[in-house]
Amino acid sequence: MVLDSDIIIAGGSFSGLLCAKELSSKGLQTKVLEEHSKIGYPDKCSGVVSLASLNHLGLFPFKKFLQNRFSKIMLHSPNDSRIVINLNDPNILIIDRCNLDNYLAEEAIKSGAELKLSKYVDGILQDFSSVKVKIRDGEIFRSKYLIDARGVASFPNKKLLLKGIQARGFYKGYESDCIHVFLDEKFAPGFFSWIIPINEYICKVGLATKTYPIECFKTFLDKVKIKQFFNLNPAPIIVNGPIEHFINNKVLYVGDSAGQTKPTTGGGIYFGGAASILASRALLHNFDENNSLISKYERAWFKTFKREIEYMKLARSYYEKMKNNDIEHLFNLIKKTYSDEITFEIDYDFHISSLIKSIGIKSILSITKTIFDESITSSLKNILKL
Ligand SMILES: Cc1cc2nc3c(=O)[nH]c(=O)nc-3n(C[C@H](O)[C@H](O)[C@H](O)COP(=O)(O)OP(=O)(O)OC[C@H]3O[C@@H](n4cnc5c(N)ncnc54)[C@H](O)[C@@H]3O)c2cc1C
Repeated sequence: MVLDSDIIIAGGSFSGLLCAKELSSKGLQTKVLEEHSKIGYPDKCSGVVSLASLNHLGLFPFKKFLQNRFSKIMLHSPNDSRIVINLNDPNILIIDRCNLDNYLAEEAIKSGAELKLSKYVDGILQDFSSVKVKIRDGEIFRSKYLIDARGVASFPNKKLLLKGIQARGFYKGYESDCIHVFLDEKFAPGFFSWIIPINEYICKVGLATKTYPIECFKTFLDKVKIKQFFNLNPAPIIVNGPIEHFINNKVLYVGDSAGQTKPTTGGGIYFGGAASILASRALLHNFDENNSLISKYERAWFKTFKREIEYMKLARSYYEKMKNNDIEHLFNLIKKTYSDEITFEIDYDFHISSLIKSIGIKSILSITKTIFDESITSSLKNILKL
């Protein structure tokens, strides 16, 4: 049977394009099929990522897509009590995702990848030697393997998604040298809302919620006094952890399609990007050594991220139980124990394990004891095997 390419990638956004760049630069014939007529749109992502993780993915913060850089996060309580967290990493980057995706597309094309736009993948059929991909207009493509990077479109547990919404806004009265995170069940129950300055005047402003995003967003804009905004985009956010298996015979799932995001923040650039690198490496070995195991991809990813994801899911489940007065109480407690400004040695991507390491299990337990009832504290002890 004649194959159109070695690998087809369904979905031309960050995860798919990173795979395309990796695979084509190593000489594999790679074809990307993207449903939209442009790369990078709609612009839904805040683009917060650490320099270390970007470098890990073999990427550098070029001017073309770097928007800003921070070392501080300011947390706001429902009554606007504030805590500043100084991260010891001055390199939390804000990326223009549209420009980053276009950069990846250019790099992939330079290495020989073929990018086909306005191609909606409508069906995927596998047999023992190939994958057949059907496009909505009737066209058919065949390859040895397929990478499914169609994001939330192919993520199975759609009921578990949060409804995210983000725009660019003109902001005033908030410091432009840090990321602002607002914890308030009124506009982001179980999650948070944010102001991420791009410069002194313009920010990314958004939130995620299980309820009604537009209404929550309006309430939030009123609260932070943002009157003018543009580029409003609603988009789902995955916070429930990854699917069980990333490989189905000749189809490999990467990025949001496999649920590879942080359960605390929904951030998927690093967790999904790392999957793109690992999946590409496994496929390259497969082509080089004829049938070496592509399952190495799944094992390697879980080895790196499984533990942190479990911690993050746990932190999320506790946070979801908190009411506004609990959040206020937590702020008071932190201020009393530390101060309004805390310096933490926190790894941005593995933030829960590094927080545990930094402040200690005992402190965490004593904080949870004052907020939650005994049954919750003892279940936490059980999970942490204390
Ligand atoms: C509001 C918001 C803010 C976020 N902020 C951050 C952040 O600050 N940091 C961070 O790390 N992460 C963030 N994320 C998460 C991050 O955006 C995602 O994890 C990341 O974009 C996943 O990339 P992906 O390539 O796997 O999927 P996607 O970016 O969703 O791309 C999927 C691609 O597949 C295409 N596609 C879908 N169906 C088909 C089809 N049938 N045929 C062909 N093509 C198809 C789509 O058009 C799209 O191009 C945010 C998400 C949201 C919603």
